[in-house]
Order: sequence, then C-alpha cells, then structure tokens
Amino acid sequence: AKSQGRNTWAFYAQELTEAASERLELEAHLRRAMERGEFAVHYQPQWDTATGQVTGAEALARWHHPEQGVISPGRFIPVAEESGLIIPLGERILRDACTFWEDYTRRTGHRLTLAVNLSGRQVALPDLAERILAILDETGLDPRLLELEFTESVLLEQHHGLLRLMQTLKARGVQFAIDDFGTGYSSLAYLKDLAVDRLKIDRTFVQDLPDDENDAEITAAVIAMAHNLRLTVTAEGVETEGQLAFLGRQGCDQWQGFLGSRPLPTAELETLLSAERHS
Ligand code: C2E
Ligand code: CA
Ligand code: CA
Ligand code: CA
Repeated sequence: AKSQGRNTWAFYAQELTEAASERLELEAHLRRAMERGEFAVHYQPQWDTATGQVTGAEALARWHHPEQGVISPGRFIPVAEESGLIIPLGERILRDACTFWEDYTRRTGHRLTLAVNLSGRQVALPDLAERILAILDETGLDPRLLELEFTESVLLEQHHGLLRLMQTLKARGVQFAIDDFGTGYSSLAYLKDLAVDRLKIDRTFVQDLPDDENDAEITAAVIAMAHNLRLTVTAEGVETEGQLAFLGRQGCDQWQGFLGSRPLPTAELETLLSAERHS
C-alpha cells in the first residue's frame, strides 16, 4: 500500500509539473503574442428587448495564434490573470476598443454603448481610474458611451478598488455592469451602495428558459429586484426565440446572444449595424 501511495504521488507530481510547464509555456506565448500584436477585439451586439434596436456591443478579446488559429479567452484570460499579463493586455483591449468606437461614432453619428470587461487584477491597481481616463482622453471617446463590466468575485475581493474607480469614473459618465450575475455570492447591500447601472444575467440561467421552472423563477426575480433598485438588466447567451420571448414578458431590458449574433470582427459588426439601422 505504501509503495502504491508513493507511485500515486509520483504520478500526481508529474501531472502537476506538466500542468505547470504547460502554463508557463502558454504564458511565454502570451507575452510574445502581445509583442507581435496577435490580439484582436471582436464585438457582440446587444439589443433592446422592447424596441428590437441595437443599443451597443460587448468587446471580447480574441487571440489569433499563427499556428493554432483562434484561441478562446476561456483558455488565455485565466493565465493572463494569474501572470499579471492581463494588466497590459486589458489596457490594450480597452484602447483598441475605444479607438474603434470613437471612430465608428464619429463617422456614423450612431451613439451606441461599448461594454468592456475588467479583471480583478486591473481593479486592484491604485491608478486604474487615471489610466482609463487617459485612454478616454487619448481616443476622444465620449465617456458616457463606455460601460465597464466586472464579476461578483471582483465585487467581493476588490470592493475598495471598485468604490474608488466608480467614484472617479461615474462623475465622467462611465457606466458599470455586474457580469455573470447570479453565479457568485454578492449581497444586495453591495449592489445598493456601489451604484452600479446594470446587471447581466448569466447564460447558465438563460439556457434552459422558459421550461426550467427554477431558472424561470430566478430570472423573473432578478429582473424585478434589479428594477426595484433602478438597475437595468441584460440577459446573456440568448440562443432561442423562446428564451427571448420569456425575457421580453419579464421586462428584461436588453439581451445578447447567438440568436442575434456571435461576437464579430469590426467589418462584420459594421455591416450588421448598418443593416439593423436601415431595417
Ligand atoms: P463573458 O464576459 O461572460 O462574455 C460572454 C461570453 O459568452 C463570450 O465568450 C461570448 O462569445 C459567449 N456567448 C455570447 N453569446 C452566447 C450564446 O448565445 N451562447 C453561448 N454558448 N455563448 C455565448 P468568449 O468571447 O469566449 O469570452 C469568455 C470570457 O472570457 C468572457 O465571458 C470574459 O469573462 C473573458 N473575456 C473575454 N474578453 C475579455 C477581456 O477583454 N478582458 C477580460 N478581463 N476578460 C475577457
Ligand atoms: Ca462580460
Ligand atoms: Ca458574462
Ligand atoms: Ca438550468
């Protein structure tokens, strides 16, 4: 039994070492990818549930690896967060997205919201507000068109950082949304004293609507609670007409999901936006 234990341990240690070296390798690739400019921003449109009009889009990072093709953020964002690379990467994504958005707004006169994800590592930076204001000044984007998303875990772990950030940026008109709402443990008290503008209901609550009774109850309750707190609600991951119809009946304000569009590169986004405007 003893030797078996040791073998198990040796096996385990080897697996851990492999996982660790894979991570280190990915981290080294990430660094190089940043230097080579292999990251792009795609945009997923968001619609107003009542009017059917596009209200904005969420910026989502894409890594175009020269050999492996597109690598999903689910794989590289966690590594970027652990290594701290998310700080320069997040800043680059924000700058690229604001640059494109300012240009689009100026060319078309179409004022849409740009939503950008913030990581906890960014929120922990004491000068994040100043860095974001510098990017807004540099790109000329109207701060009222920018919405920053953070998750409930950031809300709990970086509460003071968020308070500071929101105090500075809300004065300039930047809006804030809680991402993946319902998957964490944030308390309603936090919601109230943070003055966020929007909740995004996580896709896991949306995917089995309208048939799953628990999910239907939770979604209806979250929308009602959010409206009582004067927050708007965006549903994520809407894939079917049935889901959208249910959300519409509950008064959900906005939605995004594959039913409307996948995240798109800028040229395709513009084609979609122009078609939506003239329909
Ligand atoms: P998220 O912020 O919750 O973004 C929504 C994710 O759901 C996106 O995955 C999007 O492609 C996907 N999605 C949208 N509609 C549907 C749908 O109808 N069905 C399904 N099955 N999925 C849908 P993506 O782009 O792979 O991003 C994954 C996560 O990576 C994001 O989740 C976010 O947490 C993180 N992420 C992406 N870009 C950034 C970034 O620039 N900064 C930071 N900090 N995190 C990012
Ligand atoms: Ca998000
Ligand atoms: Ca989300
Ligand atoms: Ca479910």
